Amino acid sequence: MRLIFLGPPGAGKGTQATRIVAKHGIPQLSTGDMLRAAVAAGTPVGLKAKAVMDAGGLVSDEIVIGIVADRIEEPDAKKGFILDGFPRTLAQAEALDAMLAQKGLKLDKVLELRVDQDKLVDRIVRRAEDARAAGQPVRKDDDPEVFKTRLAAYNRDTAIVAPYYEKRGQLTPIDGMQPIDQVAAAIEQALAG
Ligand code: AMP
Repeated sequence: MRLIFLGPPGAGKGTQATRIVAKHGIPQLSTGDMLRAAVAAGTPVGLKAKAVMDAGGLVSDEIVIGIVADRIEEPDAKKGFILDGFPRTLAQAEALDAMLAQKGLKLDKVLELRVDQDKLVDRIVRRAEDARAAGQPVRKDDDPEVFKTRLAAYNRDTAIVAPYYEKRGQLTPIDGMQPIDQVAAAIEQALAG
């Protein structure tokens, strides 16, 4: 099964993707996680990406497409994957199409978590508080001001990606404002259909 998770930052993509991993045994390919790992490891990609990420902007298409192209070649991605946080631009969506076509692979579903953007800043403040309370590191870009920049980047560059898949009849919208378990149930229903 090959899936894409779309939705603004803070919509719950990571939380729901983790559940799909547990239930369906396919890996979650989060470009945000891969970039954070590159930053932590101080790789050339990480060095280029750090300032952009800290400021809430988008890392270049070239870098992100390269990371995904390498990642889907890994053995664990052969049985399928969930893309979380990619594609985030039309250029990335087109590059993904080309990558999959070249391998003769098809996407099964594109799930879009739809949320009320006015509620997202509160969610992100809570995510930071929860991480702090659990003694985990708080993401630098989960600061409310940086978060607003991330949301602006989403509305400017990423919001057009969902209609790209909708036109092809591949998009399934999910109400992301429901409690986590209900969102998970709606996703399972969509995957079964
Ligand atoms: P995320 O964990 O998905 O919220 O991503 C954290 C940050 O990583 C984003 O704010 C961007 O700076 C960068 N990033 C992650 N995925 C992408 C992508 N597909 N294209 C561009 N930048 C990305």
